[in-house]
Amino acid sequence: MANDKWSIAPSLVINRERGILYSTATANNANFMVGSFQILPTTKNSGGWSLVWNLFFPTTNNQRPTTKMAGWGGVKRGYRSCKVVGLCILLFSLAMIGLPALLVRGCSWSGPSQTRQQGPMVRLQLQTGQVVTMPLEEYLVGVVAAEMPAEFHPEALKAQAVAARTYTLLRLSTQNGNNKLFDADLSTDPENSQAWIPVSEMRRRWGALSFGYYYSKITAAIRDTAGEVVVYRGQLIDPVYYASCGGLGTEDAAAVWGYDVPYLKGVACNWDPPSQQQPVAAAFTYDDLFRRLDIPDKAVPSGAGLGGLVRVLDRTARGRVKDLKVATETFMATDFRKLLNLRSTDFTVKDVGSKVVFETRGYGHAVGMCQWGAQGMALQGKNYKEILTYYYRGVQVVPYQDSQP
Ligand SMILES: [Zn+2]
Repeated sequence: MANDKWSIAPSLVINRERGILYSTATANNANFMVGSFQILPTTKNSGGWSLVWNLFFPTTNNQRPTTKMAGWGGVKRGYRSCKVVGLCILLFSLAMIGLPALLVRGCSWSGPSQTRQQGPMVRLQLQTGQVVTMPLEEYLVGVVAAEMPAEFHPEALKAQAVAARTYTLLRLSTQNGNNKLFDADLSTDPENSQAWIPVSEMRRRWGALSFGYYYSKITAAIRDTAGEVVVYRGQLIDPVYYASCGGLGTEDAAAVWGYDVPYLKGVACNWDPPSQQQPVAAAFTYDDLFRRLDIPDKAVPSGAGLGGLVRVLDRTARGRVKDLKVATETFMATDFRKLLNLRSTDFTVKDVGSKVVFETRGYGHAVGMCQWGAQGMALQGKNYKEILTYYYRGVQVVPYQDSQP
């Protein structure tokens, strides 16, 4: 047995310090099986170890394998066929180890490093209150991942990436009284700024198998639009967006928020899928409704019925509720929506016995870019610049200059 000659063909070595290695070492008198695993100490008592997957073969045909090789040696094959089998095993090994590693690591060797480009740094306040600093382009990965479904078309993701970059640079350049944060530029709270999620949350949402694909898709959207922003007459815009207009089209900022913004004008939107146009019901008991709206009992006329209780006073040109009156109180629809946590201001009201039901369509404030509309435009072959210049009127997509406010 000791005289058997074996040459070691490629081995796959997973080294604790050095990662996955490919070894072509040659040795004699080896007496372990093809495909066997070994754990070997690294040199000079360093405490390290290597996991070796041996893919070696006999150098000659006439050597009988040892009893330890019985499983393999019973098959009489030449060196050439061994080589073929060995190659197959090697490829299989790479597929079994390399691919999962690539997915689990999220293509990190071609992902974050390429988005870490020169540019502004963002001080981000996390939900815990902790402030972390990171490059803008890296921050944008977490924003796009949080703000738009990763399944969306690459051009829609690019539009989102440029909008998010524009918003961030606008916030970085206007450190004014509106910023409620002391030590940070932005927070992860979508109420205060853009939503943002860390890589661990992306992994949780997408799952280990899809993580690599979606992560590289989003980093590509950011990399392919690197440094690009949306400007109106040379000034960064406030690129507001929302999930879906429900097919009703977008609104003028003036109709929703009461102040005019030249590039935030209502446009038709014919791309929201039927799933986004279905009414979604939100039901409230009368007591709950009055409590949320802070309406005292005495303001509620007894036996008034729904018609006398909830009245729409005004609608936007596109038909969304603009102002309404509940009992004796008048509300702007945007405030009303927040108080009841409704999905949109495109709603109808129903009385179903002991409850009031609001049926909403679409999701969001309906000013600026409709994300589902952007997805629909992308699916019809429009690129991100066409999407952005459609939803933001009179704007340009340009490389960011530091001199821009
Ligand atoms: Zn839309």
